[in-house]
Amino acid sequence: MVYLPILIFMIFHHKNGCTINYSQFLLPLRPKFNCMHIETTPTVILDSTISNDLKQIAEKVFANERITFDEGVLLFEKGELGFLGTLANYVREKKNGNNVYFNRNFHIEPTNICVFDCKFCSYSRLLKQKEGTWELSEEQILDKVRSYDGQPITEVHIVGGVHPKMGLMYFANLIKKIKEIRPDLHVKAFTAVELEYMCRKAKVSYEEGLRILKEHGQGSLPGGGAEIFDEEIRKTICEDKCTAAEWLEIHETAHKLGMPSNATMLYGHIEKFHHRIDHMDRLRKLQDKTNGFNTFIPLKFRNKDNQMSHIKESTVIEDLRNYAISRIYMDNFGHIKAYWPMIGRTTAQLSLAFGVDDMDGTIDDSTKIYTMAGSEEQNPALTTQELVDLIKQVNRTPVERDTLYNVITEFN
Ligand code: SF4
Repeated sequence: MVYLPILIFMIFHHKNGCTINYSQFLLPLRPKFNCMHIETTPTVILDSTISNDLKQIAEKVFANERITFDEGVLLFEKGELGFLGTLANYVREKKNGNNVYFNRNFHIEPTNICVFDCKFCSYSRLLKQKEGTWELSEEQILDKVRSYDGQPITEVHIVGGVHPKMGLMYFANLIKKIKEIRPDLHVKAFTAVELEYMCRKAKVSYEEGLRILKEHGQGSLPGGGAEIFDEEIRKTICEDKCTAAEWLEIHETAHKLGMPSNATMLYGHIEKFHHRIDHMDRLRKLQDKTNGFNTFIPLKFRNKDNQMSHIKESTVIEDLRNYAISRIYMDNFGHIKAYWPMIGRTTAQLSLAFGVDDMDGTIDDSTKIYTMAGSEEQNPALTTQELVDLIKQVNRTPVERDTLYNVITEFN
């Protein structure tokens, strides 16, 4: 593919610490037609180097038809980066135009003590371990919220280890106190893994547990803990935590209660391409049913200091292919997010030409999850201006949103 050398050049320069305005390189990757009204035949369909089976998929995408499971797998097996980027960018611009969304947020990670033992996790420690653990008190958490007084932050993201002593009512009351300090703050909290454990310990159904949290002020759920839904892979990498069926049931229940959520996928470890499509397919089916997911967030496996450190990390090319196929396959998801603390800000910029339309938020150096797993971003924090500049450098339009994608400010 003609674009591959350009990308390799860009990635090489990035790795060597050069700062470049990438927009001049990314522009040729954008489709050469108006995405809302295709007036000419897209060039990928005319390209004689593209196989017929891939062309048929391209025709479906440009006709706004859903692709099948097998077609999704074929894209992973045979789709080159430039081809995938053209298709993904078509879908992305049809849904979100030139916008790139972000929000002003911070994270609270109450503890890294966890009862589970996920093999890919670099962050958690067992209760009995003395070194490298933390456990914030309620007052420390509330002080952190107070430290944002007067700042135009719209969201707090609360996730952490599954601590055996922090239960449903502890967290419900914590959320209530956060809302008393900052009523306008949207509380996006607890992965399905944390929720499954909380509800089980409190002996309440998922519906009762979620209803209690909602009544105390929780607005939505993040997408973590999904990993890879395939039962065999799950058995190998995270045997003891909630199952795929439980994860999906908790999100379905939240949607029914009017609590939207996100969904993630941990890729680039021992899974095969068909496992990724299986994962996306289960999410796509649930989204057809509830329409409660806001965004899909592919998460790259990072290999520092965990029980799977012997596994090589995926390449940037594979990361971009994965974003693109996610955008093409997840046709009923409004947004695809590149979580920049995990992927690094330069690859997040690149991803905006491969289906991604959201870069998460300012973060304010408030998460350690990917820092501990070896991400390039060791102190993840961006000012609003820095985020806006990153997005403008690739000729996109930065849009500050709230958690639910209501527009706050467009930065033209
Ligand atoms: S990934 Fe989450 S549930 Fe698994 S060990 Fe780490 S903190 Fe615990």
